[in-house]
Amino acid sequence: MLTIFENAEHKNVMFSDLTSGHMVQANQHIIVHNDEAMVLDPGGHKVYSKLFSGLSDVTPSKNLKHIFFSHQDPDIIASANAWLMISKADAYLSELWMRFIPHFGVDEFVISRIHPIPDEGMIIELGGAPIKVIPAHFLHSSGNFQLYDPVAKILYSGDLGASIGADYDVVKDFDEHIKFMEGFHKRYIPCKRALDMWVNTAAKLDIDMIVPQHGAILDTPKMSSLFIDWISNLSCGLDLMGDSFPIP
Ligand code: FE
Repeated sequence: MLTIFENAEHKNVMFSDLTSGHMVQANQHIIVHNDEAMVLDPGGHKVYSKLFSGLSDVTPSKNLKHIFFSHQDPDIIASANAWLMISKADAYLSELWMRFIPHFGVDEFVISRIHPIPDEGMIIELGGAPIKVIPAHFLHSSGNFQLYDPVAKILYSGDLGASIGADYDVVKDFDEHIKFMEGFHKRYIPCKRALDMWVNTAAKLDIDMIVPQHGAILDTPKMSSLFIDWISNLSCGLDLMGDSFPIP
């Protein structure tokens, strides 16, 4: 568990080592403000019990009030039912995915606690702190959101900024780190236009850290701006593909 921000009333922690085996490495995040806690992208079934016990190391588990799902992928949301069964928390998910998630198995009497996030985003009040749910559609999912924490000035960027294979939690050398991000962004992000919209949106936020769901975090304003510069110049997805798909 890594504490990435802390003051008298606010704390942000990250878990980076709960995934194992064939699972893609994924980070799980917890934000605590006063006596309310929020879990971000809690992951799948095998991560659930480890993260739940990790939560109680951070704050009493009864303080869990909100569960945020950035999009519909299994490494985000497969354990939704377990989290809703063991807590009284409200969960939030893009309105595009509300009818799909029940396929993971969500019991009838907890499903009303998953709330649709409208395409334009929303604010979630966490113990008095307004956490902004910011649209980041097509980065990579078509119904996709990032979280901006205005207290810690952290942008939780979901799959944007993901890196695979680096053996550290915090980026120290940005140029050396690019090789761990490049393949993911070029293939999973659909097109440059989505990146351009994100760059224009990020410019309106006061960002100290960019904290993705996979791999190492960018924990300073300098690293965050190096990442934004890199994204500004990246070609990806359809932009790198030809005029038709190959037929095997
Ligand atoms: Fe994903």
